[in-house]
Amino acid sequence: MRNRRPSILTLTASDLFDGIEPNEVFPAAKPKPKQVEADLCGIDEMLDSTKRIRKSGMTFSSSSTTIREPVRVAGLDKYMTLTTWHGCFPVFAGRSKRSKKLRMDVRKAASDPKARSVIIVGESGLEKDSVSTFVHELGDKQKAHHLYRISGTSSTFTEIFGTAEYPGVLDNVAETRHALSFANFDKLLKTEEEAREFLHLLETKKYFSRFHGEERVCHARLIATIDQDDDRFKSNELLQIAVPSLRGRSADIDMIANAKLQRIVRRRGLPHISFSPEAMHRLKTYSWPGNLRELGSVLERAVYLFENDRSEHPYIPWKITAEHAITSTSHYNTEFLRYNLLSKFQSLQAITRSPWVFDDFMKYVVPPSFALVLAILWLGPQTRDENAALTVFWTWWWPGALLSYPLFSRVWCAVCPFMACGELVQAAKKSLGGKLGEWPSSAKKWGPPFAYGLFAAILMWEELWNLPDNGSLSAWLLVLITSGAVVGSLSFEKRIWCRHFCPIGAMNGLYSKMALLEIRSWKGVCSGCTAQNCIQGNPVDNNLPGAGCPLDSSPNKLADNADCVMCFRCVKSCEKGSPEFNLRPPGIDFGIPFLLPIPGTEVPAKYKTNPWQAALLFLLQGAVYVHFIPLILSDVGLGDSSIASSQFGDGLDFAMHSLVTLLLLLFPGALLFGADQLGRKLDASEVVKRLFPAQVQDVMLTDALRRNDVDAFAMAAGGTATLRQAPPPRPSVQETLMEAARAQEGEDGSSSSSSSDPFNQLVHVAYGYLPMVWTCNIAFWISRALEEGGTILPRAVSTFGLNPSMQDWLPYVVADEHVVEFVQGGFILFGLPFTYFLTQKICRDFNLGPAQRSAHALLQLFFAASLWHCMIH
Ligand code: SF4
Ligand code: SF4
Ligand code: SF4
Repeated sequence: MRNRRPSILTLTASDLFDGIEPNEVFPAAKPKPKQVEADLCGIDEMLDSTKRIRKSGMTFSSSSTTIREPVRVAGLDKYMTLTTWHGCFPVFAGRSKRSKKLRMDVRKAASDPKARSVIIVGESGLEKDSVSTFVHELGDKQKAHHLYRISGTSSTFTEIFGTAEYPGVLDNVAETRHALSFANFDKLLKTEEEAREFLHLLETKKYFSRFHGEERVCHARLIATIDQDDDRFKSNELLQIAVPSLRGRSADIDMIANAKLQRIVRRRGLPHISFSPEAMHRLKTYSWPGNLRELGSVLERAVYLFENDRSEHPYIPWKITAEHAITSTSHYNTEFLRYNLLSKFQSLQAITRSPWVFDDFMKYVVPPSFALVLAILWLGPQTRDENAALTVFWTWWWPGALLSYPLFSRVWCAVCPFMACGELVQAAKKSLGGKLGEWPSSAKKWGPPFAYGLFAAILMWEELWNLPDNGSLSAWLLVLITSGAVVGSLSFEKRIWCRHFCPIGAMNGLYSKMALLEIRSWKGVCSGCTAQNCIQGNPVDNNLPGAGCPLDSSPNKLADNADCVMCFRCVKSCEKGSPEFNLRPPGIDFGIPFLLPIPGTEVPAKYKTNPWQAALLFLLQGAVYVHFIPLILSDVGLGDSSIASSQFGDGLDFAMHSLVTLLLLLFPGALLFGADQLGRKLDASEVVKRLFPAQVQDVMLTDALRRNDVDAFAMAAGGTATLRQAPPPRPSVQETLMEAARAQEGEDGSSSSSSSDPFNQLVHVAYGYLPMVWTCNIAFWISRALEEGGTILPRAVSTFGLNPSMQDWLPYVVADEHVVEFVQGGFILFGLPFTYFLTQKICRDFNLGPAQRSAHALLQLFFAASLWHCMIH
């Protein structure tokens, strides 16, 4: 194919440089910026390159740009790149050895006399495309005229090598002296054979043209970028440039960050902004998993926060402060508290990518097991001491599920039989060509009250019909929840039932907020991801056959664990390896410091709240009291009543039993509301103001500042200061972080009401009771597990009607009564301090008064003491 004559193309500066100022590209236009930019990069070759481009025919003025476009090649237009200088400076900036080596490697590669192919290796987000552009720009323009970029994620192997019918990119470009850049080329290569053919091309510049049916030589310069080092592409025939990660160049971060910041500032038309020393320290000590891309996002956000701050406090200097930097990086700054198990244990990676985790398990193991359990429940003996399935249900599964939450989060939902049935019928409907609807937007609104109502009904059913001792009714309970999953799966795509309506899922979501394990992604990596395979699944890459997130969530968007069932589908689907499987401190979603303040680790509470979910928490607390109705009735003077043992059809007794059950279910929530209101009223009273003058004044001052109420501030300060006379102290880092977190909550679709709204405060504080509700529930159910769980073998003999004499020699384990009480007491005591510290932290975050804080502390004591009384006689 012959090159056509060079044509003249006129472009505006914004066309060419994608929003970058002309004088940024050609510093000579303004002497001072030239010095700054040259200094930032620390390399003369930038200027050399500028001259070279000028020599090659490109001229430039501030209003428009005229370039002499060397050649256009048919079939390659869509790959042409003109954003020559976009983003070039930051990646090269710095004076560290690594940045010098990078610049030297680029220069060497550009001027390589043999024009060997270049492999650029570096983590995601390192602007490797800019490096490839420089290799091309600094090279000999007579050899490489123009740069065409081919994306490995959106192009295919045949697109490059062609077919018998159509020429490929290589066929079009082979006889020219252009440059071809393959971005993330490893994504193109699906088989070893394709990898070998591509390697052969890079090393020898020869390839077999399907279109021409012969081997051809490619004269174009070949440049390829790759995220991970690959030994297959190390060879003497190839030049390799390693782009160092940002965390490996902390000495350069000031230059790189300044370069990026000034770019943002200019684009937004702001005056010069600099970093405070603390902010720069923050940036330097952060590990930047998303590299330059993440730095760009963080600085954008920091400038945005700074602009907001300036509009509220115009007296602050034009400096990005540590608070802006911390807030902007706050999602990540607990990294050192998180331990990514996938990167530490290679075998775990293989396990999590196995089809048995959990797709095949859900398909082949769970449904038959579930059917067997249902059959035994229906057809076997109906009492728990004779039915092994009933024993497994109420003494293994239920306590086991409760115990699993703090460690494994919602992993029960990943192997749940209810949804195994739902997914089976959904797959069947799809295979028959049936269509599934999109989730209605109202599901988010109506799901939580539905789950609350259904859970309350189930708890009443359990108590009034004594479900744990009734095989067929227990089976119907399972069928009831399964039918919800099946109906939801037949009507809508994915798992709408699990995300919004399932009562068990709602409880799992609550407890999972405390879990030690989580799946999250590197936001810096995800911010540049357009594929979103973690949500939609990865149908293209056969090595990554993972389906999309069943909850239509994404590890990138998770605020807490509530919307993740730990199915690992995103781990399998994501091409960039962004999802992490982290070990973390329990309760970190509620923010640090939680138990002990750790200086420098202020993290906003980042958990989604919903009033119905908070109400469900206290319903679960009430469910523990319901199990002690006889004792409670006796305590209130109704000891001989037959209410507790009444059955359906017992007339008034049954009605009373229902009423007492309902009241006990609502009792903890009512107490919480009452205690909160009482504390609030006391805080406003003169008695508390006299008893705790300093604390009350502190609360009032902070509240006035938050509302920017000058008169309230003056009154709280005792008339000695006003907002106008003395500029108010700026909000603390923690307050800033809380506000940012609350704003995020709003984005996530959860509660977004004002932080000074009493109802919203109560909902947040309610979540502080989470450890106690969990430990009290465990304390009750663990007694069943310890007393009956070990008798499964003799009960299995009864279930299947085997020889009764076998019961005498089959082993069983039953815990001593004192051991059971010891364990129960241990759980109750264990939950108390956790709940106390967590609620006090949330109270502090919301600046609640001393009486309100004390009311919550007393309520927790009451819960612990009353349940101790119920369980430990
Ligand atoms: S949310 Fe409910 S139906 Fe869905 S997986 Fe969890 S327990 Fe099963
Ligand atoms: S986790 Fe999802 S959003 Fe993030 S990089 Fe992977 S596919 Fe993209
Ligand atoms: S975020 Fe990942 S692990 Fe969690 S539910 Fe979605 S796909 Fe599964």
